[in-house]
Amino acid sequence: MSIKKQISFINEQIGKNITLVAVSKTKSELKIKEAYDSGQRVFGENKVQELVSKQNNLPKDIKWHMIGHLQRNKVKYIAPFINLIHGVDNIKLLKEINKQGKKNDRIIDCLIQVKISFEESKFGLDYKQANEWLTTDLLIDFKNIRITGFMGMASNTNNELKLIEEFSTLNSFFNKHQNTNIKILSMGMSNDYLLAIKNGSNMIRVGSKIFGARK
Ligand SMILES: *Cc1c(COP(=O)(O)O)cnc(C)c1O
Repeated sequence: MSIKKQISFINEQIGKNITLVAVSKTKSELKIKEAYDSGQRVFGENKVQELVSKQNNLPKDIKWHMIGHLQRNKVKYIAPFINLIHGVDNIKLLKEINKQGKKNDRIIDCLIQVKISFEESKFGLDYKQANEWLTTDLLIDFKNIRITGFMGMASNTNNELKLIEEFSTLNSFFNKHQNTNIKILSMGMSNDYLLAIKNGSNMIRVGSKIFGARK
């Protein structure tokens, strides 16, 4: 199926209230343009250098999301334009994002990455830490950051029960903390986005199902 057909197929499945992030990492600008021309505006990348060069060359109304692990020394390159940073899981990184937000006179939206699988990801806060971030004054000085929700990476498994448990636990946590700022729950990828949505996700990150397998 063409990129355009895949995008409209997914959009029909998920409806209007779910945000589709088209994960375009490793894919060419030509392919991104094809997705753009079919109406897609939100794209996700996981490498700063690739993200910056694509942002430079492609239409300026694209909303770029940083979905990968972000190193502190690279925040400055994306701070002028980034629409959402998905993977924030340490205070030093937040401090740097805040600093660069201030320099660019922007408030930068960030999701707290929560570790929902104990096999897959080295990254993310556990629930106890994430709760601490939100219920203490730890984040109070970061005036140029807005925490807008949570991001989770489920286990790479076909075991539905396991996936449901991981998704629904993060969903419960999200429901507990939801407010006027915290309204995004980013979970679900090519293989599990429908299950993620059933369990509360409102933002899915889909790469290979749109653009084909990566090398
Ligand atoms: C690569 C990636 C995706 C997309 O994965 P697909 O299986 O190709 O849909 C989603 N989220 C993150 C954080 C990724 O790194």
